[in-house]
Amino acid sequence: MDLTFSQDELEFRDELREWLAANSPGEEPRGDEDAIFAFRTSWQRSLYDSGWAAVHWPQEYGGRDATLMESAIFFEEMGRAGAPLPANVLGLLLAGPTIMAWGTPEQKDRYLTPILSAEEIWCQGFSEPEAGSDLAAVKTRAVRDGDDWIVTGQKVWTSGAQYSKWCMLVARTDPEASKHKGLSYFLMDMEQEAVQVRPLVQITGEAEFNELFIEEARIPHENMLGEEGNGWIVALTTLMNERSGLGFFLQVRLRQLLDKLVAEAVANGSIDDPVIGQALGDMLERTETLRLTAYRGLSTIMKYGQPGPEGSLTKWLWSETNQMMTQLAVEIVGPQALHKDNPWAYELLRARGNSIEGGTTEILKNIIAERVMGLPRK
Ligand SMILES: Cc1cc2nc3c(=O)[nH]c(=O)nc-3n(C[C@H](O)[C@H](O)[C@H](O)COP(=O)(O)OP(=O)(O)OC[C@H]3O[C@@H](n4cnc5c(N)ncnc54)[C@H](O)[C@@H]3O)c2cc1C
Repeated sequence: MDLTFSQDELEFRDELREWLAANSPGEEPRGDEDAIFAFRTSWQRSLYDSGWAAVHWPQEYGGRDATLMESAIFFEEMGRAGAPLPANVLGLLLAGPTIMAWGTPEQKDRYLTPILSAEEIWCQGFSEPEAGSDLAAVKTRAVRDGDDWIVTGQKVWTSGAQYSKWCMLVARTDPEASKHKGLSYFLMDMEQEAVQVRPLVQITGEAEFNELFIEEARIPHENMLGEEGNGWIVALTTLMNERSGLGFFLQVRLRQLLDKLVAEAVANGSIDDPVIGQALGDMLERTETLRLTAYRGLSTIMKYGQPGPEGSLTKWLWSETNQMMTQLAVEIVGPQALHKDNPWAYELLRARGNSIEGGTTEILKNIIAERVMGLPRK
């Protein structure tokens, strides 16, 4: 892949840099989740108003019809500018692309623009108490009732559900069919009594994710995405976008974190310790490898129109590196890195979930072994 920018790409980058310099959102608040959500919503609105919310989306839905390369430039520039995440990250990276791939024209018209503008926030209702890695084991049941489906079951670890209007929901519509064939994919309105959201507090003290209790919720048939019984394939589109899309976004944040860590090491003199210097060099090598691997993922999308299983590699590498880097921060910054008000303490604790969320490292290794390297199934 040729990574030299064309004239158009350079112009795109310069226009974005100028916009970012003139529209900095300032420092993100810390600690108060509602304040963080409000800050990220306002940031996403400002991106949307200027056509920067999701540059590679079609113009008719608020995007810019940008090429994938321009989209990569976009993420890198956001990282360089230290920009915050948008509020509707799961809508932008997961729901939007899945609806674009599987939605009817009416569904695309109805859902895509409010995702970009952050008017409607989305969450991902896949995992259940007994169906995480083995997603096809979901037990949440949907039964047809005239023009509606009636849904009952429990979801867990649903990030952002407390702010969401819509949920990407995988449910079992045919209990007689084989495990993978009896599932369907729904766009569920969260604003109904039958859907109860209960926060779960994480090791960081935040309640980023939730349990969902669903007791005879109603979903109109027109909110099914893809055909009945096709939910597994539609869910795979979401998962591949999760692993590749998030990987690209997060590798930029990883580099930001590394730059901050190097600045800490310079400030306290530990950079002169050869062991620390070598460890930071190792982190730089990993971060750059990750950047180039993310670009390689882009060339798969250019060729096949969809992210491939290689996205699993980026996600694995990213989570491992982020965990190593936050551990190294404790050595560089010293014991105060463990104080609850120190930003490094948050990074260290939050990184623990990285090798679980969006597919555990063990599952990603299985995918890489079987689907990228072609090794025999175990
Ligand atoms: C911060 C965070 C946010 C999340 N957000 C969401 C969300 O918004 N929506 C959502 O639906 N889910 C979300 N999840 C859930 C996440 O997708 C699941 O936790 C993950 O898929 C693992 O499922 P599980 O927790 O049930 O663990 P299990 O599947 O029970 O796995 C337990 C252990 O067994 C290992 N294991 C399981 N099967 C195999 C196998 N075949 N081979 C080798 N090892 C195996 C796993 O690697 C793991 O170490 C989130 C998780 C976290 C940590």
